[in-house]
Amino acid sequence: MTESEHRKAGTEDRPHLFIVSAPSGAGKTTLCRAVLEAMPDLVYSVSYTTRAPRPGERDGIDYHFIDAERFKQAIQQSRWAEWAEVHGNFYGTSADLIEDALRRGQDVLLDIDVQGAQSISGRYPEHSITIFIRPPDMDALRRRLESRQTDSPAVIERRLRNAEQEMAQMHRYRHVIVNDVLEKAIGELIGVIRSYRSSDPAGGVTGVSR
Ligand code: 5GP
Repeated sequence: MTESEHRKAGTEDRPHLFIVSAPSGAGKTTLCRAVLEAMPDLVYSVSYTTRAPRPGERDGIDYHFIDAERFKQAIQQSRWAEWAEVHGNFYGTSADLIEDALRRGQDVLLDIDVQGAQSISGRYPEHSITIFIRPPDMDALRRRLESRQTDSPAVIERRLRNAEQEMAQMHRYRHVIVNDVLEKAIGELIGVIRSYRSSDPAGGVTGVSR
């Protein structure tokens, strides 16, 4: 997308919600970390989840780990900008975090699934930029999930089935980036995000746009 197309899309002067989705194992977490290193002024929307932490995950940084009771209370209190059940666990995005950032004029990076991306872009259409990260193919995804050695075979199968369903929704996204060579995909993702940020002096467009 060119600068003028972005202007036509009407997102240039508003704070942005950069919504990144990908099947698990497509490398999204690594990509999002690289984006945050390159653009430390982006606010990362740390999701809340009821799933157990994986080795190395830190509470409050990777996720806020909470129990199902607290999660359900927050549903009652309308505290989620969106929430979804993914792979049998609850995941939610804090409405306060999103709305405080938008009020302050700050851009936000969200790493959420396809359902969440649809909910957020439906709720904040003028701010949302959707980006889908896809693996080169399903075999590559299986290999990545297996080599991660954090999930049981049954969980891996469930994630692969889910991935197929998510890939079927890819056409709904404004940008699609193939994570084949990691460094290249990082460059493309940073390029797409920069192209929307008028305050970013290194702005330019790369990546696959639709
Ligand atoms: P994982 O358990 O592998 O960290 O994440 C599983 C899936 O849940 C990923 O697709 C991830 O993007 C998604 N996810 C993480 N946080 C949220 C959230 O707050 N809302 C929604 N809808 N999905 C989320």
